[in-house]
Amino acid sequence: MGVDYAELHDPNAEYTMRELSAETMGVRAKRGGGRDVEITDVQTTMVDGNFPWTLVRVYTDAGIVGTGEAYWGAGVPELIERMTPMIVGENPLDIDRLYEHLIQKMSGEGSVEGVTVTAISGIEVALHDLAGKILDLPAYQLLGGKYRDEMRVYCDCHTEEEADPEACADEAERVVEDLGYDALKFDLDVPSGLEKDRANRHLRPGEIRHKAEIVEQVTERVKDRADVAFDCHWTFSGVSAKRLADAIEEYDVWWLEDPVPPENLEVQEEVTKSTTTPITVGENRYRVTEERRLIENQAVDIVAPDLPKVGGMRETRKIADVANQYYVPVAMHNVSSPVATMAAAQVGAAIPNALAVEYHSYELGWWDDLVEETVIEDGSIEIPERPGLGLTLDMDAVEEHMVDGEELFDPA
Ligand SMILES: [Mg+2]
Repeated sequence: MGVDYAELHDPNAEYTMRELSAETMGVRAKRGGGRDVEITDVQTTMVDGNFPWTLVRVYTDAGIVGTGEAYWGAGVPELIERMTPMIVGENPLDIDRLYEHLIQKMSGEGSVEGVTVTAISGIEVALHDLAGKILDLPAYQLLGGKYRDEMRVYCDCHTEEEADPEACADEAERVVEDLGYDALKFDLDVPSGLEKDRANRHLRPGEIRHKAEIVEQVTERVKDRADVAFDCHWTFSGVSAKRLADAIEEYDVWWLEDPVPPENLEVQEEVTKSTTTPITVGENRYRVTEERRLIENQAVDIVAPDLPKVGGMRETRKIADVANQYYVPVAMHNVSSPVATMAAAQVGAAIPNALAVEYHSYELGWWDDLVEETVIEDGSIEIPERPGLGLTLDMDAVEEHMVDGEELFDPA
């Protein structure tokens, strides 16, 4: 922290295997028709939402600015600052090459997985918004065109009495009837009071019965009015996960999410193949390289990439393409502001196998104040025909909710 990388020798310069700048690749970045544009700066501003949202803006010499968002993570703004000189002077329309360029140049910082990929994701989303604005096309058009006009949104639900099955059912009823969602998710890694030792990942029989009771009461309450998923946050052993998935088979959940830790693919595969309860995994995997292994091994029934973390919009499209080869639907994990939420909806519009996009901020109250447009209405996002992501940041709202010590973006 506090080191100005611009004043240091570039530690990657002599070791980069492949240099994908336009100059060294012999790629002509110049072109006509108003598309001869250069990136002049990249800036970030962190907003204190129910997660720290890192908003990213890419500036150009055409006066057009693209807005993106990176998933949270310590050091993400610093990594973006580190990458800025790597793309200044480049044409923002070369999204794929600039993405690969950053992956290559940042290999030393760790661009296979982790916060470096997260930081690159934020720039990549901003490039899609920017390219759409330069070309006067909505982002979905850059990704292959449209399968659907609206993207279904599921609501991540919470109640203060998260371990009380009836309280969960009451909240499900409220979200369906009052907020208009027909797709919900609840946490299932909640305490039953019967735990002896949570470190060993083993579920006691009473704990499984308690979880099944939550699932039963919620699904029975909303019945055919809503699909309901349940999230375990990588908590249980393989055998406990299998017994839990087996115990809730009769309730026809939408999916059971992350029942076992993410590192061991063989355990994940065994759990998924042991049950007819659909298993969803993917929010803490990075890039198509990692998501591909889940899909190809049929270790996942529904894949759940987090777009502003996994690599961005094209990377999510690539993951969806692999998933589609295995007839696997995509339910996009999302805890972001309206910016990355809309990016996920734009990808969802352009892929055949989009199932839903998550909304994780219904308790916040001011989530959609960050942009001038309406984003979620009646449990879905209407895909805008406006250029890029189709959103305009409300700078007063961004300033009001900025993390202390952050600076607001420069004007375009
Ligand atoms: Mg989850």
